[in-house]
Amino acid sequence: MIVLVLNAGSSSLKYQLIDMESNHVLAKGLCERIGGDSRHKHGIDKDEKVITVPMKNHADALDEVFKTLVDPSEHALSDLSQIDAVGHRVVSGGDVFTESVIVDDKVYKQIEDLVPLAPLHNPPALHAMKACMEKMPGVPQVAVFDTSFFTTIPPKAYMYPIPIEYYEKYHIRKYGAHGTSHRYVAMRAAELMGRPLSELKLITCHLGNGSSVTAIDHGVAVDTSMGFTPLDGVMMGTRSGSIDPAIVTFIMKHENLTPDEMDDILNRHSGLLAISGISNDLREVKAATLAGDERASLAYDMYSNSVKKYIGQYIATMAGVDGIVFTAGIGEHCERMRRMILAGLEPLGIIMDYEKNRLHGSERDISDERSKVRIIIIPTSEEYMIAQDVVELTAPHHEYSPEGFNDFDTFDDEYERNDSSLTA
Ligand code: ADP
Repeated sequence: MIVLVLNAGSSSLKYQLIDMESNHVLAKGLCERIGGDSRHKHGIDKDEKVITVPMKNHADALDEVFKTLVDPSEHALSDLSQIDAVGHRVVSGGDVFTESVIVDDKVYKQIEDLVPLAPLHNPPALHAMKACMEKMPGVPQVAVFDTSFFTTIPPKAYMYPIPIEYYEKYHIRKYGAHGTSHRYVAMRAAELMGRPLSELKLITCHLGNGSSVTAIDHGVAVDTSMGFTPLDGVMMGTRSGSIDPAIVTFIMKHENLTPDEMDDILNRHSGLLAISGISNDLREVKAATLAGDERASLAYDMYSNSVKKYIGQYIATMAGVDGIVFTAGIGEHCERMRRMILAGLEPLGIIMDYEKNRLHGSERDISDERSKVRIIIIPTSEEYMIAQDVVELTAPHHEYSPEGFNDFDTFDDEYERNDSSLTA
């Protein structure tokens, strides 16, 4: 079965064509700066090409993608009819969509109604769905929501202690983000641990430029660090994460800032970048730390401390933990950050094997034999998870496993950088 996975951002369209039988990525790429100085990056690994193509909108971008997929020199498809189904990443399913769904007129309208919660990102996903329906009539389209994994979070964790009218009027509550990634790594971690997910207490740490931590109790998300928007939670590359909300009004008053200016500071000029004064990229912060830069060291300490605090919180939430999972750029690749995050937690039965932590590889257990809690690294694949949902909904008699799937180049979180000012 061949599944096309599409991720439409505000001015981008990412795609991956996956052969679920062989677990091969047949094609992948990114159309970016749509509506402006647009270009198409495509190809796998070393064969990546970048071409300048005028694309006015997402329909043009999809035309460009389809043209590439059937280009004989790309060896992806001989005909578009070989695509069995399409999976669309949708940023916000609000509290409406608790799982992935096949898109029909009713679903399309419901996603449209949720636009106020993701004003920059639900619309392009809708455009991509519409264009696919026109260009590939009869081919099932599936919507996979970033938020649906978090619809199991109970009211005591998703409500904010502010006047209830804001919840009623504007639906202000915790929605979370990175749900597809947390769901994927939890599923793989359970497989690696050889135990059913429904028996486990897991804490999954998606630590990339955007970072979030989730508590998954017996297979169900019970809390997550991102909130009404992806600005909440742990410290990130350029985002502050949780801070005292009074700081926001204080700075606005004293610096005479508009809401948009303040939003920009918190989303694009805070986090690792602000504290280190060097970069939002942890590799650069790490290099500066090793060279003795004090602000870089402080940024490093603050980031690890903020993730550690969420781990502590979620151990309390679930009254224990069986596995802690690390994923995304920092979680997968930064042995020093993993070590600092878990440092000192040995009395809680969380004991890392430092040697295993240092080694590179893909999915792996880095806990010491004495550790009661498994510490696991899982490269995330939101694309695979989306494709698997597509299979489950459109061809449930097929059973595929991600074993051997080797493309872990995940979605960037452009939407989080751009879609932070959510007004209903
Ligand atoms: P995004 O959230 O944009 O998808 P990624 O998941 O790609 O981001 O993670 C990006 C982050 O991962 C950056 O801060 C980058 O510095 C960090 N990272 C990637 N590789 C390493 C590494 N080897 N050591 C430390 N940090 C790394």
